[in-house]
Amino acid sequence: MSSHPQKVVQELSLRDPNGFWLHHADQLHWHKKPSCAVTKRTKTLPNGTSHDHWSWFQDGEISTTYNCVDRHVQNGCGDNVAIIWDSPVTGAKEKYTYRQLLDEVEVLAGVLKEEGVRRGDVVIIYMPMIPAALIAALAITRLGAIHSAVFGGFAAKSLAQRIEAARPRAIMTASCGIEGSKGPVPYRPLVEGAIEASSFKPLKVLIWQRDQLRWNNPDKLGGGQRNWQRLVKSARMRGIKAGPAPVKSTDGLYIIYTSGTTGLPKGVFREAGGHAVGLHLSMRYLFDIQGPGDVMFCASDIGWVVGHSYILYAPLLVGATTVLFEGKPVGTPDAGTFWRIIEEHKVNVLFTAPTAIRAIRKDDPDNKFFEEAARRSGLKQLRSLFLAGERSEPSVVQTFQNLLSKHAAPGAMVVDNWWSSESGSPISGVALRSTVGLIPQHQRQQTQATAPLAIRPGSAGLPMPGFDVRVVDDDGNEVPTGTMGNIVMAIPLAPTAFTMLFNDDERFYKGYLKRFNGRWVDTGDAGMIDEDGYVHIMARSDDIINVAAHRFSTGAIEQAILSHPDVGEASVVGIPDSLKGHLPFAFIQPRTGTGVLPATPHAELFTAINKIIREQIGPIASLGGMIQGRGMIPKTRSGKTLRRVLRELVENGSKGEYNAKVGIPPTVEDADVVEKARAIVKEYFEERKHREATTKSKL
Ligand code: AMP
Repeated sequence: MSSHPQKVVQELSLRDPNGFWLHHADQLHWHKKPSCAVTKRTKTLPNGTSHDHWSWFQDGEISTTYNCVDRHVQNGCGDNVAIIWDSPVTGAKEKYTYRQLLDEVEVLAGVLKEEGVRRGDVVIIYMPMIPAALIAALAITRLGAIHSAVFGGFAAKSLAQRIEAARPRAIMTASCGIEGSKGPVPYRPLVEGAIEASSFKPLKVLIWQRDQLRWNNPDKLGGGQRNWQRLVKSARMRGIKAGPAPVKSTDGLYIIYTSGTTGLPKGVFREAGGHAVGLHLSMRYLFDIQGPGDVMFCASDIGWVVGHSYILYAPLLVGATTVLFEGKPVGTPDAGTFWRIIEEHKVNVLFTAPTAIRAIRKDDPDNKFFEEAARRSGLKQLRSLFLAGERSEPSVVQTFQNLLSKHAAPGAMVVDNWWSSESGSPISGVALRSTVGLIPQHQRQQTQATAPLAIRPGSAGLPMPGFDVRVVDDDGNEVPTGTMGNIVMAIPLAPTAFTMLFNDDERFYKGYLKRFNGRWVDTGDAGMIDEDGYVHIMARSDDIINVAAHRFSTGAIEQAILSHPDVGEASVVGIPDSLKGHLPFAFIQPRTGTGVLPATPHAELFTAINKIIREQIGPIASLGGMIQGRGMIPKTRSGKTLRRVLRELVENGSKGEYNAKVGIPPTVEDADVVEKARAIVKEYFEERKHREATTKSKL
């Protein structure tokens, strides 16, 4: 029986990793070509524990900057646009061709060299979304140094933790960031405060001066502070430049600290060779961005892994154009910003997070802005909308699929794709270009389709090349198709994925391998793979609740609740129950209306929602309680719901401990939301107590 090309490609990548990945390595320039793709070995920790380990393209040498920039100029594409900067918060728009980008990168690399940055050094980038941030990353990697971008908006404490852990030679920053419509946020107190709080002191701090708010007299102050633009000007006048220094494939390209919700941040270490090869493939195969003339708009931030991969490296690796956006999905100036950018810059692929789409839908429930751009035929070149970062509600996927089918390029698709900081690129998705040169001649006859696989709302597609995804029970045994369990991956992971945590082999083992005795890499996610191979990510493993010995994912219950027309947002956590262990408990935000709501929703709504849950999931998953309100579901800055915080509030509330401390991670978007949730939880449980007392006295 013939299989779809995406399945054939997948099977090939796992069956013959050397043949498959060496072919893809050949698409790039290597200073020294690798002789084999994957090398497996055993790693032994200082405490004696051994585990399987692997490396990609071990004997190869590569320069990622050379592949992203120089190569395209040398191939005659120097006049193609590499970066379009669109900044509604400042009103600025700029374009950089590959030739201009090369010039900026060579000179800045020369500056960094003069400032003492050497191969293997770490340099922190703490920047807003301006072209200098991308140029900085490319200049650092040009020297064979390693960057560690920290989301420019993190407080001094979070930045200090990362300085302490990464021990950077230098920090590259800017005088201010611009937070949506709130205006400039000075970075100086944040950077100086972080360096003060850290026991490790970087030697240099390069400051990009922005007109909106300057950092006074950096050159006159101590602490290695330097005016970035002045250094560049001086280097340019003296003809200082640096060429691309190749590194070993397994040397570090960057470290990214995960947006973890607990404990100290983990430094995911990305290796140069595997990253370049894997991203290059994903850009062409999954996203169908082939190269010159294609425009990618990834509306993430350079501080997150999605930004590293799909704002910076992947589009440039293939020689396409990337849109760098300094703004928000709404409020800069309105919910039409994304569609305006797509129209104006002729964007082919938009990549964003479900949280951005929810924000747009809230401000523009009738898709007025989308329809306006569509009426002008402004979305005709849009080929896909990629969504990642959290589970996409099927109704949202369907709504946008309908809109795209009507107004975007023929065959345009909404692609939910699942991945993590650790994976470096999507672990699953639906490949938009599933045939190009990936299947050997003799196997091509076995495949019939040339069109992509159909999307399945609620699923994040099928595994991507090199990721061997399985679903297992708590003992690590694979479960039957369609059964919920822990989602794990077999070793080796695909080339873009991490092979270690920076300077912390023990934590790598404990965090990812120990749970299943080194047999599988734990993703921390729970879900299932259906009979057609589609992966369904339902929740983080710790967001699974156990109701009378039945395991439910909070994601599945939320999905059911969201099918009620009056519900705009829902978050489900477990509340302790003396009889059943736990019961699901929902925080819901009504879709429309303003004004103050009672914490306890109308009995009618509660009954209606429970009816839906009973029908869609089963009576056993019925809610044990429900709270309604607005602006009370806390999120991380990258848009993930902080269920753990809500769970702690509910657990404390059920015991009457309303003011007990809850663990708020530094990645929280707005800590006031937690306080709002705390107040609503208190109101709810006080009222419940009162109700129970009245009922008792009546009996
Ligand atoms: P981070 O490392 O901060 O990017 O977070 C990775 C986590 O985000 C994953 O382990 C998932 O829990 C979640 N995630 C990312 N993409 C998806 C998706 N498409 N569907 C469901 N969960 C997702």
